[in-house]
Amino acid sequence: MTQPLRTALAALALSFGMGLTGWANAHAVVISHPPVADHHLHIFSAEGSRVLDLICKALGPKGCPPQRSTAPSTGADVLMALDKAGIRDGVLLSGGYFFGSPEVADQHLDVAKGMRDENTFIVGEAKASCGRLSAFVSVPPLSPDAVAEIHYWGKKGGATGLKLHLGSARFDFRDPDQVGKLAAIFKAAGEEHLAIVIHMQTRLKDYGAEDAKIFLRDVYPMARGSIIQVAHAAGSGGVDDGELAALGAFAEAIAANPRSTKNLYFDLAMVPDLFANEGKIPASPAHVAALEDLMHKIGLKRFLLGSDYVLGLDLKAYYANEQSSLGLNAADWRTLASNLAPYIRSKSARHCTVAR
Ligand SMILES: [Zn+2]
Repeated sequence: MTQPLRTALAALALSFGMGLTGWANAHAVVISHPPVADHHLHIFSAEGSRVLDLICKALGPKGCPPQRSTAPSTGADVLMALDKAGIRDGVLLSGGYFFGSPEVADQHLDVAKGMRDENTFIVGEAKASCGRLSAFVSVPPLSPDAVAEIHYWGKKGGATGLKLHLGSARFDFRDPDQVGKLAAIFKAAGEEHLAIVIHMQTRLKDYGAEDAKIFLRDVYPMARGSIIQVAHAAGSGGVDDGELAALGAFAEAIAANPRSTKNLYFDLAMVPDLFANEGKIPASPAHVAALEDLMHKIGLKRFLLGSDYVLGLDLKAYYANEQSSLGLNAADWRTLASNLAPYIRSKSARHCTVAR
């Protein structure tokens, strides 16, 4: 390649947030090995979108990066995005927890109704996808209505799992009362055979190993056989010291007792965060290297690809960047791309035609 062409390509690649090697890899990877599933996707009903906008107004650009769409979106939007990137399955995570968010406490929303409607929306959109999308309903973990909502979906059917966002709830693992509430939620989800996706990074500045250890001791065992997917590799998108400390505690627990931790998985949504997520924590090369070490220690089979999709995210570009950011070799990427959460694997056959 001539030097001017190389420079021009490098400039083009950098403008997409990736180095030249990443740009070249991107094309090799997205064409031959797209992920079999995106394990972390968001859509919002019109009301969910309205409440999310209120939350974003209160949090400002740090909490809600302006480049992330809060617009209403549907399962059909997600299917189109998945199709464009050659991805078969997807996991829809409900924004039902928005309604109990501390940022909208002054709005006096009907939390029980708001979360029920948003969860109903997600389940309906998944149902219309003929089995390609799995629905995870969600509850604000400190809400008095949380456990009843979980049992409602357990009895009604249509939900594959439960999504929890501890950061949004301003949850604190060092408060035994709150840990008790979370343990009750895990117990209810376990009883209803719902998998759990948990965004467990709290807003505490010193979040880390101690919180993961409390989670592993007091919360995780309550869900019994349910698959637990720790979102964003125990962080919030990006890679930071707290996330690495928490993930390190998981690595130790898994090494010490692989059997009792066999249901633990980690998704990589917006990790390591070099693309489309500038409002969050930038990932330094040293942080990414530490993350990769922990991924290998834990075992790549436990890591699930996900994008944190909201309307407008180009999944092909996202996953191209994800591979170049992680710096894994081709075989390791293939492993990640072929990982499918057991809650999808066990789903019954697909048998209808998607209305478009
Ligand atoms: Zn998310």
